[in-house]
Amino acid sequence: MIVCLFDIDGTLLASGGAGKAALESAFTEVFGIALRAEIPYSGRTDRAIGRDLMQSHDVEPSPENWQKLLVAYLARLPDSLNNHHGRVLPGIGTLLQTLRERNDVALGLLTGNVQAGAKVKLGHYGLFEHFAFGGFGDRHFDRDDVAREALGAIHTHVGTHVKPDRVWVIGDTPLDVKCARAIGARVVAVATGVHTREELHNARPDLTMADFSDPSSFLGILS
Ligand SMILES: [Mg+2]
Repeated sequence: MIVCLFDIDGTLLASGGAGKAALESAFTEVFGIALRAEIPYSGRTDRAIGRDLMQSHDVEPSPENWQKLLVAYLARLPDSLNNHHGRVLPGIGTLLQTLRERNDVALGLLTGNVQAGAKVKLGHYGLFEHFAFGGFGDRHFDRDDVAREALGAIHTHVGTHVKPDRVWVIGDTPLDVKCARAIGARVVAVATGVHTREELHNARPDLTMADFSDPSSFLGILS
């Protein structure tokens, strides 16, 4: 059995900034503070982004404040997705369908999104049905820990017989490559997010792709 673990933002879909906008407007609403600091989002977990937003605006980064921010974010996310021009990235629909038709491949998620946010984003684009399990960004500050959670989910949902070198992580950032290596998985980097092919290549994935409009090199390496 081969397991493919997909990142969401920049890999399966581009939300057009809907997630960031929902989180930032939630932050302003909950804490009454206009945002003044930019923090990095790419490849990071929602939990870490939330903590950094709080810390950089002198808000106590307590679990209670994180919960308030999370509830407000999830309340805003559906409208934000409707109000931004996002899209499913090239070739993804066909790729997921192709992989689902194979009885030797299982599909999961490895994302920095909180689980509820992942469901809303994927549901908005009709992709949620493809994924039965995954690792998410609810509790973890480090993406490597999300990868460990995803590996645990594989063992629960697919079986403990799945060896890490039969697991493929598909993501759009150097952090996706790094977290795949943290669990001994193989990794495809796809340049449909903010990183160039060269930046991704320098992180030393097993394969770098411009996008999945022609997935043959990926499907070839899987077999
Ligand atoms: Mg991503």
